[in-house]
Amino acid sequence: MIRLHKVSKTYRTDKVETLALKDIDLHVREGEFVALMGPSGCGKSTLLNIIGLLDRPGSGSVEVGGAAVERIGERRLAALRNRSFGFIFQSFHLIPDLRVIDNVELPLLYRKDGAGSAERRRLARAALEKVGLGARMDHYPNQLSGGQQQRVAIARAIVGQPQVLLADEPTGNLDSRMGAEVMDILLGLNREGTTVVMVTHDEQEARRVNRIVRVFDGQLVDTEHVHAA
Ligand code: ADP
Ligand code: ADP
Repeated sequence: MIRLHKVSKTYRTDKVETLALKDIDLHVREGEFVALMGPSGCGKSTLLNIIGLLDRPGSGSVEVGGAAVERIGERRLAALRNRSFGFIFQSFHLIPDLRVIDNVELPLLYRKDGAGSAERRRLARAALEKVGLGARMDHYPNQLSGGQQQRVAIARAIVGQPQVLLADEPTGNLDSRMGAEVMDILLGLNREGTTVVMVTHDEQEARRVNRIVRVFDGQLVDTEHVHAA
């Protein structure tokens, strides 16, 4: 599904060079749920951004669904990204002026193979029902709890039926009960076939997935199989 080979990434600003990733070899199998763990600044977000085609590696190769990313131009890369990946962030990133249903429909507006407005609405409703928020469609984000807002963000991430969900500390802003609810939803989506790669600092959460990959100073230092995929 996703293969990284010898991926390195250096950030350059005026004065500083930061080697954020060094020689990363990683294979994420179809249907797998992987947790990325490691201290702040070790390169987890950079790795997730490269996997999700939001950023290109400085060197090394990235393959998504058989396509070699370094040979793809920007426009096709954006199309591949939109088709393949859904993103979830620690801080939800919902648009406060849009109702829940309109937030969830948003990714469909950017797709070339675009659905018509009735179809978009149908897909958004289905995604919201899947995360248990069918009754909150007409609310605004700030009328919902943090856990509910993250579930809206999950609905937005899955509305285009991506093969892979990438989640950067999806429970980082939630208390343990809401965090566990969000994990239940991610595990359910994974059971239905969606591949998930998630950054987390929570060992208990990581224990619920297939594999824990540990990052330190930009390198993969350990991989631990927790549950068979
Ligand atoms: P993590 O997600 O594990 O906290 P990051 O991938 O965000 O780590 O960062 C890895 C390293 O790269 C850190 O030293 C961080 O400061 C640096 N870094 C991340 N993004 C940028 C950027 N856009 N420009 C410069 N340095 C960056
Ligand atoms: P979060 O905790 O929400 O992941 P971060 O503070 O790690 O947020 O990063 C937020 C954004 O800033 C990311 O896009 C990351 O790439 C960028 N970033 C992180 N470290 C640096 C840095 N040293 N210089 C410039 N940009 C950075």
